[in-house]
Amino acid sequence: MKQKDIAELLDEPACAHNKKSKSGCAKPKPGATAGGCAFDGAQIALLPIADVAHIVHGPIACAGSSWDNRGTRTSGSRLFRIGMTTDLTEQDVIMGRGEKRLFHSIRQAVEDHRPAAVFVYNTCVPALIGDDVEAVCRAAEERWGTPVVPVDAAGFYGTKNLGNRIAGESMVKHVCGTREPDPLPEDAQREGIRVHDISLVGEYNIAGELWHVLPLFDELGIRVLCTLSGDARYREVQTMHRSEVNMMVCSKAMINVARKLQEAFGTPWFEGSFYGVGDVSQALREIARIIADDDLSRRTEALIEREEAAIDAALEPWRERLRGKKVLLYTGGVKSWSVIAALQDLGMQVVATGTKKSTEEDKSRIRELMGRDAVMIEDGNPRALIKIVRDNDVDVLIAGGRNMYTALKARIPFLDINQEREFGYAGYTGMVELARQLVLTIESPVWHAVRQPAPWARRGESANVHPAGEGGAGTGSRDGAVPGTVPSTETLGG
Ligand code: SF4
Repeated sequence: MKQKDIAELLDEPACAHNKKSKSGCAKPKPGATAGGCAFDGAQIALLPIADVAHIVHGPIACAGSSWDNRGTRTSGSRLFRIGMTTDLTEQDVIMGRGEKRLFHSIRQAVEDHRPAAVFVYNTCVPALIGDDVEAVCRAAEERWGTPVVPVDAAGFYGTKNLGNRIAGESMVKHVCGTREPDPLPEDAQREGIRVHDISLVGEYNIAGELWHVLPLFDELGIRVLCTLSGDARYREVQTMHRSEVNMMVCSKAMINVARKLQEAFGTPWFEGSFYGVGDVSQALREIARIIADDDLSRRTEALIEREEAAIDAALEPWRERLRGKKVLLYTGGVKSWSVIAALQDLGMQVVATGTKKSTEEDKSRIRELMGRDAVMIEDGNPRALIKIVRDNDVDVLIAGGRNMYTALKARIPFLDINQEREFGYAGYTGMVELARQLVLTIESPVWHAVRQPAPWARRGESANVHPAGEGGAGTGSRDGAVPGTVPSTETLGG
């Protein structure tokens, strides 16, 4: 990929970061936690396209670094779960066999699995030795008649976020607009309802949460042509150009797809969220408003009224148990403002929220919800998080899996909200699941048990006479904490 193409992707005009300064996306500082390379970002963005053979062209470790690290679900084909790589070795590099290996890997994928398409992800080594991945993809496509799409996202090009954009760029350039949508089945035109087509960009069907939302669209007579990329099929991505409106579900990843489809096909787009009752209703309203079909707007309002009433009743018993509980929210990809609104709706108090990945617009929405003095955490290192928990008497930490051990070592109830989560929180029904998981987490008897003094401490024995020895495993005071209290930040290893 040329430098100017990378600079153009970083300078995405639709990204709110660029409204502030033309610096593109923030680069990680030396010593910061690695957030994945551009290849990782590209593969993670496209891997949920279920019927595609995803081949990683590079050393096997690249494939290992990002395979299936998102809990995305599929309703059919499971081909995407097979890790494929050209497994380049030193000998291949020395002998110049990279392109040949790639060509034969594509052949093997096509012959063994009959995929709808093959995506080839370029990585650092073949990019450095100058393999012409695009040319190999073209030759393989001609040879076997299966679409072969190059995704030129070598890790050293930049960050994971850049990789997301490169992935989106590849879809717009090579896939969108290459097929027309299927004609509607005859019974789709039931009762004179006009069916409208939309697409969702940046929705990954984590823990199957997309399926909480699809029945609502179905009832409204809205056909989701494609979800880029949760539970998607190649043939759906091909038809995205026919959407009447695109909804950007994740605020940053693949924002360039929505903008470019608008430029090329005039498709309007908006940014919305499926987390929290208010935001789900708002997203449905916005879709109906942009489509500008009075009948659809009327039916949307009726559906919202019915669903909100039902969900309000379903949430009431959970609200009783969650009201007044304090939350520290430290999300990664999931929009903080949207989750804050959902938690406040449950009667919880959000004492602080992470804003490391938030745009300026996200931050102003957070201030609207939490007040002008909202505590925003830019650098969520374990010490900072634990300090906030201790200073504010927090009941639960909601964060990504990366923070799980910080929470567990400090004996703080923890709920995973990021891509590895086991439960889907989107849609109206997702709110009930969120409330249920919060109650199960906060009320789990394990917190009471682990905060008790160790049995030997209760008997007045000192820790240094315990068989495991000072600081030994199983002493209950391994981290140096006074039993029954949250350990000091120093003992958590920062
Ligand atoms: S930085 Fe390069 S070598 Fe490392 S995982 Fe990413 S693509 Fe592979």
